[in-house]
Formats: sequence, structure tokens, C-alpha cells
Amino acid sequence: MTGRMGIVSVSVVLWALPGAGARQSDTGALPPGYLDPEPILEAAEAAIGADNLQCVTISGTATANIVGQQRLHAWDVDWPDAAPLMNYTRTMNWETGTMTEEFDREPGRNPASWKWGLGWLDGTPTQRNVRQRFVVTGDAAWHVDGADGDPVAARPEDAELWQLDLWLNPHGFLKAARLPGADPKAAWRWELGEMGRDGPTSDPPMVRIVSITVLGKYRVDATINDENLLQRIHTWVPDPVLGDMNYEHEFTNESYVDVGGGVRFPTGWHHHAGWDDNYQAQSITAGHNAFGGELADIRANACPDSVPVPPSVQGATFSAGVETTELADGVYLLGGASHNSVAVRFEDFVAVVEAPIDEARSLAVIEEVVRLVPDRPIRFLVNTHQHHDHIGGLRTYMHIGATIVTHWRNFDFYTRDVMNYDQRTLEPDMLSLWPPTELAEGYQYERVTENYVLSDGDRNMHVSYVHPLQHVEGMLMAYLPRERIVIQADLLDTHEGLPDTAGAAHRALVTQVERLGLDVDTIVPIHGEPVSWDEFLRIVE
Ligand SMILES: [Zn+2]
Ligand SMILES: [Zn+2]
Repeated sequence: MTGRMGIVSVSVVLWALPGAGARQSDTGALPPGYLDPEPILEAAEAAIGADNLQCVTISGTATANIVGQQRLHAWDVDWPDAAPLMNYTRTMNWETGTMTEEFDREPGRNPASWKWGLGWLDGTPTQRNVRQRFVVTGDAAWHVDGADGDPVAARPEDAELWQLDLWLNPHGFLKAARLPGADPKAAWRWELGEMGRDGPTSDPPMVRIVSITVLGKYRVDATINDENLLQRIHTWVPDPVLGDMNYEHEFTNESYVDVGGGVRFPTGWHHHAGWDDNYQAQSITAGHNAFGGELADIRANACPDSVPVPPSVQGATFSAGVETTELADGVYLLGGASHNSVAVRFEDFVAVVEAPIDEARSLAVIEEVVRLVPDRPIRFLVNTHQHHDHIGGLRTYMHIGATIVTHWRNFDFYTRDVMNYDQRTLEPDMLSLWPPTELAEGYQYERVTENYVLSDGDRNMHVSYVHPLQHVEGMLMAYLPRERIVIQADLLDTHEGLPDTAGAAHRALVTQVERLGLDVDTIVPIHGEPVSWDEFLRIVE
């Protein structure tokens, strides 16, 4: 026993890293592999003057990528580029729990609530103005389009993510580590770095990892290097598609600058949402880079007045209510949200087109379908494409036992990254809580190459591949020949009415319909209200 203790003390001397300190804590000896976090945190606080910074404003130019809107998946290394965020300014006040971000972004392309990294989740209107403002204070968050637009409340789950981001930077992390419930733990490792960025490592430096709990829920770890600087801050966030999703910010040593009063702050920002998978080792999910920039103009302790929560944000409610319209006998449009689903009644079963948003939405839609058609199982879920806002409920349909009809190019992504056996610890869904046996067996998919027909001998649904699009690869649409209804996603959106002019996606829809010789009377979009084919043709011609 004495001998073993002796070996432990020798190894403490061997790892006499700056600030590493002794391997003893108040509670006694630590298990192998662990370090006392206290001296590591103290050294890191001293290195960047954490006690001398109450708030900070950083400015520069940032880039954003759009999480979950990849064109392909396995073949894309990165999320698609969004418009750059010009004149980007972020103020962080850890004492009030407030973060404000403002930037200029090209209008028109995105829903206005689309912040950097975050995909289209709640379908607010298209961005109309250049200047964009995002605020979180405590658990309230909102977005303002233009200098004096009306504040639009962010959903609670988005507000929480923005609040989390306030703490995912060196000063924020060190402050969070001192809050009640942080429960710091520390470990050491030799850091190989990132193969794609740093190349092969022959002399890996020893680093310390400090892990804390933030907002009572997120286990956040920081990699602290031999200069006592935080170089990577990592956590997981809940995502309806990917489950516990990798989420991290990186800061290089060189990017830390002196901003006076003993305070150092990083200027270079680099953020990953999803696996940092240059080598595609972990998964076949597409992207990783989600935000970055050179935010070199740093003002310390010029704390603005507290930001009041607008009354409309305070009282905001978010309904998952399903509004049903019977489009034809046994054909139901399930609306009331940013994305529709369409249920079609067959002789012995029901088929639903699209499982968008998340599990809560999908369960509400499923229960409405069961109410409308109580005596038949939902046997098929037809998935139009793999953009994350359109597949947040796929797992829910697999939970209820529906077969997923999708284009063959989505199969690897779905089986490996979306409908897998992984635990979801942050927000368990039904499939992760009670995985059915077929989840591992793979027979609950129908992979469509070109054409596929669901039929009961009387009613048909023709599912077809929409040829390569700029928007996405692996797109399907559905056609009901008797009702002359086409159900499609993202080729024509009408949530803001019919567009004035035709774009490439609109022409792709016309080409598709002509190529297959479909006789269309009504277009049913996943985003927006149904429109007549003739009305649509007028804008294309
Ligand atoms: Zn899409
Ligand atoms: Zn869409």
C-alpha cells in the first residue's frame, strides 16, 4: 500500500505542469487519471485575468454555415456557407447572463431567425433587412429583423442554446466553473491535435481537461494547454436529428491578445456543430464548421445597461397545434406549424408524407392521424429529403412502427447517424428510450431509386426521384393521380404566398411534372398553403 502511494507521488513530480499542482483535493486522493481542478482553474484565471473582466464587446467579420442544410451528406466535408456576417458585434455580460449579437447579412435567402449555425427551426419570415439582432438574457431570447423591427421570441430550446454560448469562451468557461453546481473535474492527456489542421504530431504536448456542468445540464469540457490558455471548449447539445450533438469552440494561442488590466481575450473564433469529421471517422454526417471569424476589436468592461425583455417575448407561447384540412376524400393536410405533413388513407393502412421538426410535433401529427383514421395503422412515412428540418420526426415514425420510404442516397446517413441505437442523454426520445428490435435489422426502410408506388388496388401514391437539384440531393416527391395532387418540399414554398418570380427550384418542379407526364391540379407544399397548378404556372411562364 505504502509502495503504491509512493509511485503516485513520483508521478506527480513527473507531471509538474505549470499550475497542475498536487493530486490531492479536499476529499482526499483522486482516482488514477484525474487531477485536482482547483490549481488548474486558478492558473488559467491568472493567465487571462478572468477576475478583471465583467463584460466584453467583440467586433469584426464572421462567417456562418448552415447546420443541417447540406446538399449531400457523406461527400460534403462541411455545412453549406451562409452569407457572411458583416459588422459583427457581440456583447457578453456574464453578471446579467446577457448576450447580444448584431450583424449585417444579405437579406432574402434565409428565414430571419436563422442565426449562425442554427438551421431553419421555426419558420419565421424571410429576412427582409440587412441589420440583424439576436439577444438572450436569462432564459428569454429574441430576434429583431432590421433597426426597428418587432422582436420575435426564440423557442425555449433555442434560447437555452444561445445562453449556453455565452459561457463557451475562455472567460465564460472560467466564470461558469465558479458557479454553484459546476462540479469541476480535471484529467490530463497528450494532445495529438487535429490531423487535418495540424498534421501528424511527433511530440504531443500534455494538456489538462477541466469538465464542468453549465446551466445545470450541459457537461462542458475545456482543454487547457501548457500556457494555461483554453484552446478548445466542448460540449454536446440536444438535436432532434443527431441526438447528443458535438458542439465546440476553438481558440488558438496566437489569437489571444492583451486588452489591458491583465485581461487577455481571443480574437480568432472557430466553431463546430456536429462531428469535426474531416476524416469521416465517426460518422457520415455532413458538416462541422458552423461559425468563425476574426473578432479583433475587443472592448473590455464597457458594460451596456441591462437589456429589458420585450413584453411580447415575455408572454410568447409556442403551440404544437395541428390544423387539419381535408384536401380530398381521405387526403389530409396537417398544418399549423412551419412544416406540413400530409396523411393519405388507403384501404388497409395510412401513409404520411413528411416527418418534420421534432418528436413533439410528430407525436401531435400522429395522434391527429389516428383520430382521423382510427382503424388503420400508419404503415409508411414518405420522406422528401434529408434536410434536418424535414427529418426531425423520422425517429418518431420508426418508433410507432412505420416503414420509412426515402431515396437510396439517404440510407447510409439515416441508418448510421439518425436512426441508430445510440443513447440520447440530453433529450431522450422514444426511439432511444425503447429501441425496437427492427432498429438494428434494417428492414423498416424502402429505398427508392427512381419510382415507387404505394397502392391498395384502388388508390395510388406515386413517389418519384426529383433529379439533381442545387437545394439537395436525394429528393423525392409524391403524386396522387386520382386526386391530381402533387406533394413536394422546398421546390415551391407558399408560406409567404406565391413568389413573384420563378427560380431554379420552381423550374425543377415543372420539369419533373413534365418529365413524368403527371396531370397536376393542386400543389401541396410542405411549407405553406396548397396552390393550383395553373396559378403556379403563371409565375413560371
Ligand atoms: Zn430543404
Ligand atoms: Zn424546407
